[in-house]
Amino acid sequence: MLEDQVDSHRYYIWTIGCQMNKADSERLSSALEGLGLEEAAAPGEADVIVLNSCVVRQSAEDKVVGMMTSLKPLKQGNPQRIVALMGCMVGPKSGDLQKRFPYVDVFMRPQQYEPLIDLLGERLGIDVEGCLSNLAPVKPQISTYLPIIHGCDEFCSFCIIPYRRGRQVSRSIEDIVREVDLLVHRGVKEITLLGQTVDAYGQDLPDKPDLADLLTEVHSVEGLRRIRFLTSHPKYMSDRIIKAVGDLPKVCEHINLPFQAGDDEILQIMRRGYTSDDYRRLVDRIRATVPDVSMGTDVIVGFPGETDVQFQASLNLIRDIKFDKVHVAAYSTRPGTIAHRKMKDDIPSEDKKARVQAIEQLQESTVTNTNAELAGQVMDVLVEGRNRGQWQGRTRSNKLVFFSHEADALGELVDVRIEKTGPWSLQGVVLEKGLSVATR
Ligand code: SF4
Repeated sequence: MLEDQVDSHRYYIWTIGCQMNKADSERLSSALEGLGLEEAAAPGEADVIVLNSCVVRQSAEDKVVGMMTSLKPLKQGNPQRIVALMGCMVGPKSGDLQKRFPYVDVFMRPQQYEPLIDLLGERLGIDVEGCLSNLAPVKPQISTYLPIIHGCDEFCSFCIIPYRRGRQVSRSIEDIVREVDLLVHRGVKEITLLGQTVDAYGQDLPDKPDLADLLTEVHSVEGLRRIRFLTSHPKYMSDRIIKAVGDLPKVCEHINLPFQAGDDEILQIMRRGYTSDDYRRLVDRIRATVPDVSMGTDVIVGFPGETDVQFQASLNLIRDIKFDKVHVAAYSTRPGTIAHRKMKDDIPSEDKKARVQAIEQLQESTVTNTNAELAGQVMDVLVEGRNRGQWQGRTRSNKLVFFSHEADALGELVDVRIEKTGPWSLQGVVLEKGLSVATR
């Protein structure tokens, strides 16, 4: 297929996992389009199929294996088709994976695009030199993710990421600002700066700039309307960064700050480097400096040895802080991690499920009440697209808002008066004045 249909090569990328994976897929897509390939609507229509995998939890890994298995007949039906497995499922040695999935042509670690690009170069007989030098998405979304740090230095005991993505490497401020500028010229209005520990940005760079320095520089890019950053680590959230969030108008008042556990003993075994009280004081400082900040968090339940009392500490923290968003995950042991080597995954799965449910119920009731307070308010919404016949966008605080409007509102910042609220989204009416003001 690849050799004889030179003009119509198509690729399909399937992605699972975190925003970093989504950003990696966008960047690979940019490289493939640079080589003249077009996106296919389904794997069966593609000459190149890439699965960008996640193994942070067993459920994600199971989905990747299911998807890999479903590709086997496609490869057998057309041996010229290239199948690639990318992402966190691929460790430094891919021998075991090669045995499990012999029909896969290329295995690539996160952000390691060269093996696929080189193979494509060979098959197409073209020079691929330089095609990975600029990976900014060619057709970016209005709101786009931009990786600023690769890897992580933390080695939390439950986490596989540092083993798969390697140690922390920050990109330079100049490189990031250049890419933001390019993306803005391609229509981007909102950038989310991405890192596993985004607030540790710059610690590995010669002059040790920090995230506050980077936010200030990115803020100066003309035409950019909003800046966000993900994911922060409580250990690195400095007063300087908090102040930058409060001071820089383009930086949205939204911080995702995983606490992972509310009990100090569990936090210590997780190797998180802070106590529950440290975390509460940090949230107080953020709220004192950034009024109306919305807070998100991640928490793991059913960590080895977690007692009911220890779980209650997580529940209490969630109840007290009243987060806007809580991502809750049941612990699943990941081979290769410290927890896997040293601890027994001893909490029964029905207990883990019950703990997940308890947090979800608490969060639903909390956010139902806090969102209800937004009714009648006029909120600044960046319109990202259409969904079920309505426009869809997000507030500065990252709330999802739907509204109807005749005119094309894509990419506009509009004023929306909130009329209906629910736990997961808001419904509003666009103010005409807001739409015309936003097109300025
Ligand atoms: S900070 Fe911890 S949980 Fe986050 S990526 Fe690094 S090791 Fe994993």
